[in-house]
Order: sequence, then structure tokens, then C-alpha cells
Amino acid sequence: MKIKVLPMGSIGTNCYVVSDDAGNAAIIDCDGDPRPMFFYISEHNLKPTHILLTHGHYDHIGAVKAVKEQYGCKVVAGKDEIRVLTDPAANCSIFSGGAMTVLPDEFVSDGDSITVGEMKFQVLFTPGHTEGSLCYIFEDTIFSGDTLFQGSCGRTDLPTGDWSTILSSLKRLRDLPGDYTVYPGHGPSTTLGIERSSNPFM
Ligand SMILES: [Zn+2]
Repeated sequence: MKIKVLPMGSIGTNCYVVSDDAGNAAIIDCDGDPRPMFFYISEHNLKPTHILLTHGHYDHIGAVKAVKEQYGCKVVAGKDEIRVLTDPAANCSIFSGGAMTVLPDEFVSDGDSITVGEMKFQVLFTPGHTEGSLCYIFEDTIFSGDTLFQGSCGRTDLPTGDWSTILSSLKRLRDLPGDYTVYPGHGPSTTLGIERSSNPFM
């Protein structure tokens, strides 16, 4: 498996291209000008089949339309994120450059798994930053969206955010057995072990 991080969009959202040895690929969140992602995908001969959304905020969905048009990817999101995805006030896009909505092709729930080539992504429901935020777990990696950051966690003052709910989600992540590399929606990667011992919100 190969993981490429591309900081994209107006606030440098981490967009990930995760691929297996056969070139099957999943894109995790995408914002901004998609050309650096297109370049990486064609340079490595990848075949993206899925866009996995951690949540519906404008800075995680801004390039979904363009990427879907380019590759015909299936867009996957949490079933409880529908309001954020389809309401430009709830996803904050009307305050950030223009109203935007995304209607996913597939909604997933806690415990579901999504198969992409040889890869299987497990869905962990981690609401709080938004009401339908998800993490995706693949082998020993967690794509944590805006739920967990290095030394911090996502804000909860935006529509559908809730502080006590994100704390429960962080506790759920903390209590996962074993260690994982954590790839967040913003900022550097970390490990669950480091966050368990040093993140004040865990
Ligand atoms: Zn967010």
C-alpha cells in the first residue's frame, strides 16, 4: 500500500491517495485545485474508484465534483452527514467562496467496510466535529479527518458540532487496541500511541 498526502485547497486540507500494488486507489477527502492530484495519479498509473469522505465541510469536498468527473469515482460518506453535505450553510461553503453540496453515491455506517482493490477500509463512526464524521481504518492506519489532529482535535463550534460528542469519539479512538499511524485532515501525521500519552483531549 502507498499513501500520498497532498495538501490542497484554501486552507491546505490533507487529501490522501491510497493505492495498492495493482494501482487501485481510494481518495480520502479532496479540496481545491485537483491538478496536483491528477498529476500524481497519472504519474503512478493509478485507477481511483472511490472518494471516501471523512465529513462534509467545504474544505474536504471542494474537489469532489472535478475528481468524480475525471475518474467516475463512487463518493462514499457517513449516513449521518447528509445534512452537512447537502446544506451550504452547514458545510460552511457559503461563507468560503461559494455554495457547494455533494450527494454521495453510498452512505456508510459504523462497522461497514469498503473494498477498494486489495484494500479494505473499516468505517468508524466518530461524530462531534460534525454529526456524521467518520474515521477510516485500513490495517494499521487511521484516516481521522477533523476528529483527531496531532496534539489536538477538531473544532465543534460549526453547525452540527458538539463538544461532549467529540470527546466520546476521541475516547473511542483512544481505546482501540494496538497502535496505528494517524493521518489527519490537517497538519502532520502522528501515531495513536503518541496521542494517547500526550493529547490533552484524549
Ligand atoms: Zn471539518
